[in-house]
Amino acid sequence: METTIEICPFTGRLAGYLDLPNGDKVCKHCGSWEPEQFLKYVDETIKNDDIDFRIELNDTRDKVYVNKEGINNAKEGAIKHYLVHLKKYCQDTGISVEDMDKKLHVAFTISKDKSYVFLQIFEQKLKNNML
Ligand SMILES: [Zn+2]
Repeated sequence: METTIEICPFTGRLAGYLDLPNGDKVCKHCGSWEPEQFLKYVDETIKNDDIDFRIELNDTRDKVYVNKEGINNAKEGAIKHYLVHLKKYCQDTGISVEDMDKKLHVAFTISKDKSYVFLQIFEQKLKNNML
């Protein structure tokens, strides 16, 4: 996808997306993961039981932290998504913000459940000296 120049809805500044080494695109100003890639990740990982899926809403409920396997910092790949970028994406594409909220709510619930299952597997392996 071509990088387009647009206004970052988080900072209000003229922005665009940077390509990171792993293929992720992030906003030049706020570092937010590009909405389409973020949504694709959410869709693919909630369906796949083998992937440790962890997304978490921050305390002020405006940012989603994304924990992806193999990504240790913001230089390696996207680690966060600002919901104001997603809201703008909804406005630009005509997707209902309410539907997007519902979808994210489901994703957060699945993320919590999956994290719990992965933690149990990890603890079991630790107990059996398999790590
Ligand atoms: Zn931004």
